[in-house]
Amino acid sequence: MDVKKKLWVVVCLTLWCATASSRSQDVPELVKHQMPELISAYKELHENPELSHFEVKTSAWLAGQLRSAGYTVTENVGRYNDGSQAYGVVGVMKNGKGKTLLLRTDMDALPVIEKTDLPYASKVRTKNAAGQEVGVMHACGHDVHLTTMVGVARVMAVEKTKWHGTLILIGQPSEELAEGAQAMLLDDLYQRFGRPDVALALHDNASLAAGMVGITSGPAMASSTTVFVTMRGVGGHGAMPASTKDPVVMAAEFVTAVQTIVSRQTLPTHPAVVTVGTIHGGTQSNIIPDEVKMGLSVRALDETTRKNVLEDIQRTADGVALIAGVPAERKPQVEVAHFTSPIYNDPMLTARVRHVLTDALGADNVLDLEPVMVSEDFGLFGLPDHAIPTVLFWLGAVDPVKVAASVTSGVPLPSLHSSMFAPLPELTLSTGVTAMSDAALDLLK
Ligand SMILES: [Zn+2]
Ligand SMILES: [Zn+2]
Repeated sequence: MDVKKKLWVVVCLTLWCATASSRSQDVPELVKHQMPELISAYKELHENPELSHFEVKTSAWLAGQLRSAGYTVTENVGRYNDGSQAYGVVGVMKNGKGKTLLLRTDMDALPVIEKTDLPYASKVRTKNAAGQEVGVMHACGHDVHLTTMVGVARVMAVEKTKWHGTLILIGQPSEELAEGAQAMLLDDLYQRFGRPDVALALHDNASLAAGMVGITSGPAMASSTTVFVTMRGVGGHGAMPASTKDPVVMAAEFVTAVQTIVSRQTLPTHPAVVTVGTIHGGTQSNIIPDEVKMGLSVRALDETTRKNVLEDIQRTADGVALIAGVPAERKPQVEVAHFTSPIYNDPMLTARVRHVLTDALGADNVLDLEPVMVSEDFGLFGLPDHAIPTVLFWLGAVDPVKVAASVTSGVPLPSLHSSMFAPLPELTLSTGVTAMSDAALDLLK
């Protein structure tokens, strides 16, 4: 971002901060009024989840809801790298001159067989891209986000006299694959619908009690980089290892050696994670294969650490091959396959939103949380170098009684992506709609 623009953003956010935030008194009543309908919509969505790339009915539902709330809606926004259609939804409400605020919900579910005993548990089965039969479950709570957005859309439509500017509501597909935000941006999202001044999102949290929210200033979620490492050797008979270069042994050494990247080679003050999640090689016990392929996930909060870790991975693979005496033409292949940028919560905007959340929910219900090493592609809506200030905050989703029991017993609660994750609908949704509506009203007042 150029210096002038940066100054403008700082001045605007400072002005917002300086303005005493007077809550709209109507929001609690508007939220309460909607709850029965939102809860039944949530249960319907939960029972009918769709995988990433296949959000056909979910996106149509969201589009219909936004349209009936008075938004101008465009469907099928987004194009994936392979040229295929994405089911992005964009709802726009123009309300005079002023700033443009973008709010995002994601829409996709996960290939998980639901094991909760909820009366509205998903029984959906489908085939994944590899043709295997899988369960489908909203195990990340994107159904909470969808329902919350509909509630906020209605509040903002009713409260039009309390704000001015442009509100852009985004239904993003394929968050779980970290492909949807990019697909929408590549489809000229900002050129077609306007570039926002600020972007907000929320994500439900599986360890925070419903009724509470959490927020992190600065780096909030890690970048995620997928790396494929292929240890290439010289295959042969399992009984004659001396005439081969064994990639199984090299892969085993590599897996062990990369564990020291985080423990010995990165600065202890700069968090990183290196996980070897897949390893494939060989067809039969008496054959030494030609190669072994591994899939790694690298997480980091800052770009320098990420770059260093990627160099360390390359050097470790090369070093293992060198020790084994692999010929130069069979050097390991290291391929960076996919990258998702970190989420950086703009400190000024975070302070502003935190103030609003405290006003809305009470100071005891707003927690300052540490960054986490999971990733999200919402950060892409902020464009490179955080040109657009963004904030993503956490929405507590668990029955407070269960949180208290977990603290007492020490038994962890089901995490996001767990087949047992079961948000508490009413309090989670009412808190989400209240928090996001108040934030939107405040930023556009
Ligand atoms: Zn997820
Ligand atoms: Zn999620």
